[in-house]
Amino acid sequence: MGVVHAAATDSVVLENVRLIDGMGGPPQEHAIVVIKGGRIAAVGTATTISVPRGAHVVDLDGKSVLPGLISDHSHLGMVDGTSASAKNATAANIERQLRQFEAYGVTTVTSLGLNGAPFYQLRGPAHQGSLPGADIFGADRGIGVPGGAPPVDAGPDQLYRPHTAAEARQAVREAAARHTDLVKVWVDDFHGSLPVKMKPEIYRAVIDEAHKHGLRVAAHVYYLDDARQLVADGVDILAHGVRDKPVDAAFIAAMKARHTWYIPTLGLDEDFYIFAEQPALLGDPLLAHALQPALRNELANPGWRAGVLAKPAGIAVDKQALAMNQRNLKALFDAGVNIGFGTDSGAMPLRIPGYAEHRELHLMTDAGLTPLQAIDIATHQAASLLRLNDRGVIAPGKLADLLIVDGDPARDIGDVDRIDAVWHRGKEVSHGIGAFLP
Ligand SMILES: [Zn+2]
Repeated sequence: MGVVHAAATDSVVLENVRLIDGMGGPPQEHAIVVIKGGRIAAVGTATTISVPRGAHVVDLDGKSVLPGLISDHSHLGMVDGTSASAKNATAANIERQLRQFEAYGVTTVTSLGLNGAPFYQLRGPAHQGSLPGADIFGADRGIGVPGGAPPVDAGPDQLYRPHTAAEARQAVREAAARHTDLVKVWVDDFHGSLPVKMKPEIYRAVIDEAHKHGLRVAAHVYYLDDARQLVADGVDILAHGVRDKPVDAAFIAAMKARHTWYIPTLGLDEDFYIFAEQPALLGDPLLAHALQPALRNELANPGWRAGVLAKPAGIAVDKQALAMNQRNLKALFDAGVNIGFGTDSGAMPLRIPGYAEHRELHLMTDAGLTPLQAIDIATHQAASLLRLNDRGVIAPGKLADLLIVDGDPARDIGDVDRIDAVWHRGKEVSHGIGAFLP
């Protein structure tokens, strides 16, 4: 590399790109993106942009550039290999997951509850850009139910289970003191598998106390009736899709009137069975590079497969839930409800960081959204849910968080899986997933 002019050494120019800027419009062909100091400095074409002298120029002919994906619903540090446990919540394990998300183009991740001290230890460096991997936001420990949801092995330093409204308010105050980004509640009984649901007096206290502290509340839901009551009681984000019944006009109107966000998490029901039903997926590099060795061994084990497939009634329920979730997503999207992006990746071993987000984009287009609509939700809208206006679109002044893929995902969402490179804060942090070791 020769000597370049000092003023230009930190400028990078991506040229000949197919630009999908995250603002919903059609791709711009032969675009130029100028990056400086970790941010987008300019976007245009050869007729509108003069390339800075001495800038490092990268020709991306045939490739598409889109904003880094943003997850509004994942979990960090819960899973390691085939185990899901509080014991996995070490800084090293979280950092490994953040690098995996980033290698798959997910440059911002929201850990929606179950966060202990390591999360807060890493959040500052992640925001500063000094921690390798995706940037992180989160919902503190989260607020569950004594003897009920969430059915996870989490200690008191990772999860509250208040018995009274007063205890619930205290939990919110403690989370606020730690400067949490959001508050999480688990409301339902996990499809009848748990003996109790959260009492309305508890989640009402959480919502009221959170709003007093300027915090928004995201709720784990499954059933329409719970979702309807939560929206009426002022919840800000439904963190899963409604999967038992079609949403109705009254529910849609309430969500619109209150500007409630909706994160469908389509993939989570499919995760229960798809790897058993489709063992050929193990040969797909997109999946293979996302699997830790213990998980890869499990998915390749015929005994494990047979065990999953031996419960066809359960699989049928999961498939019905996915179909209802997709139907409701399409209805809510068409009605203009705010849709966020998330998969619950990292909550359980089969909800695989990075891979799940790519699969979710496919499931959104299967639900009837166009590829550009799905991409807009996974970038621009996902940032809006988090109230982040420094990312989610490719425009001057925004963080240069970029997913570069072969082909044109605006025409075929499958092209979003053809990862060429990921840039984070203006630096190329990975070139394809081939070099990534989970
Ligand atoms: Zn979750």
